[in-house]
Amino acid sequence: MSLNVPSHASQFLRSRVANVCVAIAGTTSAEVIEKATVAVKETPFLEIRLDYLEKPLLALPRFKQFFADNTAATAIATCRRSANGGKFAGSLAAELEVLTKCAAVGFHMVDLELESAEALKKADLQKLRETGIGLLISHHDFNGTHDLDGIFTRIEAFHPDFIKVVPTAKSLIDNLTLIHFLERMNDNSNLIGICMGDAGIISRVLGVRAGSAFTFAAATVGEETGPGQIAARTLLETYRIDQVDAATKVYGVAGNPIRSSLSPIMMNTAFRRETVNAVYLALQTNKLSDLLKLVHDIPIQGISVTMPLKQEIMSHLERTDPLSARIGACNTVLRAQDGKLYGFNTDVAGITGPLEKRMPLAGARVLVLGAGGAARAAVFGLREKGANVFILNRTAETAQKLARQSGSKTIRKEALAKSSFDAIINATPVGMAGNKAAPLLEAKDLNTKLVFDLVYNPLETPLIHLARQLSVPFITGIEMFVHQGARQFEIWTGKPAPEEEMFRVVLHALRQQAEAATAEAAESKPEAKSRPSAKPVAKPAAKPKAAPKPKPAAKSPAKPAAKPKSVAKLKPAARSKPSAKPAGKKSAVKAKK
Ligand code: NAP
Repeated sequence: MSLNVPSHASQFLRSRVANVCVAIAGTTSAEVIEKATVAVKETPFLEIRLDYLEKPLLALPRFKQFFADNTAATAIATCRRSANGGKFAGSLAAELEVLTKCAAVGFHMVDLELESAEALKKADLQKLRETGIGLLISHHDFNGTHDLDGIFTRIEAFHPDFIKVVPTAKSLIDNLTLIHFLERMNDNSNLIGICMGDAGIISRVLGVRAGSAFTFAAATVGEETGPGQIAARTLLETYRIDQVDAATKVYGVAGNPIRSSLSPIMMNTAFRRETVNAVYLALQTNKLSDLLKLVHDIPIQGISVTMPLKQEIMSHLERTDPLSARIGACNTVLRAQDGKLYGFNTDVAGITGPLEKRMPLAGARVLVLGAGGAARAAVFGLREKGANVFILNRTAETAQKLARQSGSKTIRKEALAKSSFDAIINATPVGMAGNKAAPLLEAKDLNTKLVFDLVYNPLETPLIHLARQLSVPFITGIEMFVHQGARQFEIWTGKPAPEEEMFRVVLHALRQQAEAATAEAAESKPEAKSRPSAKPVAKPAAKPKAAPKPKPAAKSPAKPAAKPKSVAKLKPAARSKPSAKPAGKKSAVKAKK
C-alpha cells in the first residue's frame, strides 16, 4: 500500500463513527475496560487513552476480549507522548510500537500526533498503515488558535483517514475562526475540528454542524482528558448535539466566570421540553466586542447577560424596556430579525414575581440588603409596584445614591431591631458558597413576614436557616433564578416557559453539586487520602440538608414579548446604534453536508 493512498479502512470507518467519541482514561487496564464497558452501552464510539496507562504495551492484550464482547464498539487508540500534550513518557519508537500492535487486538483507528508523524521514517509509518488500521493524524495547540490551514496542509500530506485540528480558544472569536475553517473545508468529510478551553464550548456543540466529522467528549464530569471537554451525556442530552442542524437557533449566557453556570442546563431543558429547535451555550468572555461579533456572525438569537457585561451592553442596544434603562443594566438581549439588539431586565420580574405570589407589593415595607446589580433590580422593581423600600448596604454612599435615584430610604443596621418589614431581601453575596463573610442579620433583626435570599448556592443559606429556625416563611434564590430564566424563555420564544421543569432541573443540579462538594471534602481529609480510592470519580455522598420543598411554580403567564410589536414599545437605549456590524447576513454556521 502506498503512503499516499488512504487505507481501505476509510470507507468502513466513516460508516461507523458517530457524532460523539467518548474519551476513556484510567491508570490500569482493568479500570479502562470497566469504564469503556459502561460507556459503550450509551455511546459505541470510544477513544482509549493508552497514554494514561503506565505500561500500555502490556495492557494491549486485555482489549482483545473487550472488542470480542463489544462488537458494536468502534475505538481509536491514542498513545500521545508528553512532548505533544499527552501522558506517554516513552520514545517515538515506543509509541509507534504500541500503535502498530493496536490493530491485532481489535482497535479500528489510531491517533498519531502530527509531530510524531513528521518525525517518523516513511518506512515506519508505512508499517503502521500496513496493519490495516485507520489512521487519524492530530495536532493540538495548547497556546491558541493559529494557522489552521497550514496545520491542515501539513497533516493532509500524509493522506490519513481523518485529520484532527485542535487549537485552544483564548477568546470567543477563536471559535468563529475554527467554525469558518470547518466550513471552508466542508468538502473534506474526514476533518475533525474542536477548540479546547472553557471559551471553546461553542465549537464542541456547533462544530459538527459546521462540518466536523465528529467531536470528543468526556466519559463523565470530572473525567475530562482535554481542557474544556464536556461529558458525553451533557453533550447528547443537554445540548442535544445529534439534533443540532442548520435550523437550530443559538442562544447563550455570556459573562465570566460561566463554566459552572446552571443556565445551560435550565434553558436547554426548557427548549427540549417545549420542542423548540434551539441550543443554549455558555459563552465565557469579559470582552463585549467579542460577544457582539459572535452574536452577529453565528448568529446568536438571544443572550442572558451576566457579570461583568450587564451595564456595558446597554449602549449597544437599539432599545430597552423602561426599567432596564432606569436600572442601567440589562440581563436579557433579543436579536430581532433585522439583526438589531433589544434589551430587557428579567431580574426585576425574578424578584417581584415570587414576592407577588405571596403578598401585595403596593404599600409593603421591604428591606433590601445590598446596593449592587441585583439590589438595583429589586429596588426599582419594588418601587414600581408601589412598595416602600429601605436599603441597607455595607457602603453607605452607594445605598444613599440608590435611594435618591429610586425614591427609597436608607436604614442603619442598629435601627433594624426596632423596625418591622413585610419582606427582607438579601441582595449581597453574603451566605454564598465560598463567601466567608459573617451573616448580616441576627435573630433580633428578622422582624419580617418573609425572607427572600437571592443567593441560591448553597440550597440552604445561613439566612434561610435562620428564617426556618424562627418560623419565618422564606423564598430561596432558586425561585428568582428560575423566574428570570422563564421570562427570558418567553421573550425569546413567545411560548410559556415550562417553569416547574426548569425548577426541578436546577434543584437537581444544585443537589448534585452539593453532593460532589461533600464527597470532595471527605476525599481530601487526611485519613481518606490514605485509603486507596476505587474510582477517580467522586462518589455521591450523603444528601445535603433538606432545602425548602420546591413549591410548584405557578403556570407562567403566556406573555409573548419579543414580537416586533412589543419591541416597538421599548425605550430607546442610551445610544441607539449597535457598534457591531449589522447582522442579517448568511449564517456563519451551515448544515453539515
Ligand atoms: P454586586 O453588584 O457585586 O453587588 C454586591 C452587593 O453586596 C454590594 O452592595 C456590596 O456592598 C454587597 N456586599 C458584598 N460583599 C459584602 C459583605 N461581605 N458584607 C456586606 N455587603 C457585601 O452583586 P450582584 O450582582 O448584585 O449580586 C449579589 C448577589 O445576588 C450574588 O452574590 C448572587 O448570589 C445573588 N444573585 C442571585 C440571582 C438569582 O437569580 N437568584 C441573580 C443575581 C444575583 P458594597 O457596595 O459595599 O460593595
